[in-house]
Amino acid sequence: MFDYLIVGAGFAGAVLAERLASQRGRRCLVIDRRAHLAGNAYDFADRAGVLLHQYGPHYFRTNSERIRDYLGQFTEWHPADYRILSWTGGRHWPFPINLNTFEQFVGHPATSEEMAAALAKWRVPIESPRNSEEVIVSQVGRELYEMFFQGYTRKQWRRDPSELDPSVCGRVPIRTNRDDRYVSDKFQAMPRDGYTALFQRMLAHPNIEVRLGVDFRDARVQVPHRRLVYTGALDEYYDHCFGPLPYRSLRFEPETVETEWFQPVVQVNYPNDHEYTRCVEIKHVTGQKLPVTTVVREYPQDFGPGREAYYPLPAPDAQALYKRYEALAERETNVSFVGRMATYRYYNMDQIVGRALTACARITHRSDAAAGGAPPGWAGRGDARPCLATMRPPEIAPRGP
Ligand SMILES: Cc1cc2nc3c(=O)[nH]c(=O)nc-3n(C[C@H](O)[C@H](O)[C@H](O)COP(=O)(O)OP(=O)(O)OC[C@H]3O[C@@H](n4cnc5c(N)ncnc54)[C@H](O)[C@@H]3O)c2cc1C
Repeated sequence: MFDYLIVGAGFAGAVLAERLASQRGRRCLVIDRRAHLAGNAYDFADRAGVLLHQYGPHYFRTNSERIRDYLGQFTEWHPADYRILSWTGGRHWPFPINLNTFEQFVGHPATSEEMAAALAKWRVPIESPRNSEEVIVSQVGRELYEMFFQGYTRKQWRRDPSELDPSVCGRVPIRTNRDDRYVSDKFQAMPRDGYTALFQRMLAHPNIEVRLGVDFRDARVQVPHRRLVYTGALDEYYDHCFGPLPYRSLRFEPETVETEWFQPVVQVNYPNDHEYTRCVEIKHVTGQKLPVTTVVREYPQDFGPGREAYYPLPAPDAQALYKRYEALAERETNVSFVGRMATYRYYNMDQIVGRALTACARITHRSDAAAGGAPPGWAGRGDARPCLATMRPPEIAPRGP
């Protein structure tokens, strides 16, 4: 009997398993249907020896010392500069838009004040932007929006930015200084030996057992457990009873090249050329020194059978459908839904770590209460209640047409 069956060996599942095992003395079984740890952060050495991120580049960054220090128990860090260029009109442009981009655009040196004054002239006055198009045109005007955002977003989401939440494009900063880093977080670094090694250390605890290549469909009936932590897709948990939630998927095409460096920075965006959105040369940020390199081109694609669900769709119709599933999830008493897919929201890795750390306190408090009000820190017998995870709430509507 395990105290916790934890579905998913990504950041959400691994952090919870580590905390429950080491802080609370709970026995955890972590399963993942993939053949590896680390969820979407999984990395591995390809044939040329280049450390690659299988599911797209994962740039670790955070403003939280708590999260940095927590993960720092399991890894050394390699400081990283995440720099991006955008290729459009036959040349590279510094991206996100900053003073260097502006100078290239106007064709002469400029100051921050001049840039701010120009943006003030170009921006479309919109008081409360309601979508991703409005959020950008209200900051930089239509021409820069069309150069850098419109084509990229359409390719990525197969929807026009005007149909997507402001947060999609709004998360990209617009700067009037020369800070040309992709993100501004205080701490930006990669795990020195890679993410997979970090996960191996995190899960190497006598109270944790890991089984890979195991689907929850099988484990939910075969593995005796007291409580369930589920980090997979919420609509899948409920057998898509309200219909499938929309996701975007991706195809990654790696190419190894017999040269030390292929491109000037880790990521080049292609908003208006090619079918792929970006070309990533991860060696720029992992710190590997090799005479060869591997680049990976990323092609957005529709989600469907045999494809991975990567991005929840940040649009009002998708959120409305998610809310129906969320209402079911809120009624569960012995299941905790944690992570990106279970909450149907895009979160960065540090946000997921933070949420998992918080969830740990909530989950153990709830299970302690169920076990008879044991005080926090109590690490004895598991929860008193049998697992309800396999029970279906009776009010689930039949699958729609
Ligand atoms: C292309 C891409 C690029 C990204 N880049 C960055 C970045 O640069 N920086 C950043 O901070 N974040 C980035 N992220 C976000 C990051 O991947 C997530 O924050 C993080 O992976 C979330 O962890 P998680 O545990 O919630 O989910 P996941 O990592 O997805 O882990 C969930 C795990 O559950 C398993 N699972 C699901 N269903 C079942 C089932 N039924 N049975 C068994 N196992 C199951 C899955 O196989 C998966 O391994 C990126 C995401 C994507 C898709």
